[in-house]
Amino acid sequence: MNHFLSRRVFILVLIMSILKIIFNPIKVLASSISSKEEWNFSKEEWKKRLTPEAFYILREEGTERAFSSKLNNEKRKGIYHCAGCDLPLFSSDKKYDSGTGWPSFWDCIEGSLENKVDFKLIVPRTEYHCSRCGGHQGHVFNDGPRPTGKRYCNNGLALRFEAN
Ligand SMILES: [Zn+2]
Repeated sequence: MNHFLSRRVFILVLIMSILKIIFNPIKVLASSISSKEEWNFSKEEWKKRLTPEAFYILREEGTERAFSSKLNNEKRKGIYHCAGCDLPLFSSDKKYDSGTGWPSFWDCIEGSLENKVDFKLIVPRTEYHCSRCGGHQGHVFNDGPRPTGKRYCNNGLALRFEAN
């Protein structure tokens, strides 16, 4: 590579890095807005579609009280769907008792969730939301069981369980 070309490559990499820094925060801010147009309801429309409790969790990134969800103790086989758009998010065979008081899973159904980092408790936490309607579900931690080592700590109010 001659000197002139390597300089051009260097400048290109520099420009791409700057663009990445500029556009990343936009992506984070927009992540609770659904990318699917048919699920892009206004706040008022979501309020009509959801119970006040589910609205608080799904659309305002709230967290329910620990041990308050009956899904915490749900042991039957079945599928956990998004309470906002009914997309299947978790299977009962990946649910476990984490002792935290929230329904916990060590893996999700592939492609059903998207992540973003929040700083609500100062320490960064990875929030995840439904990939279809953008509804907030919970937070994912790295202290889960094998084989993934993940703990998806989910609000029961954001889920609809359907037994097999
Ligand atoms: Zn959803």
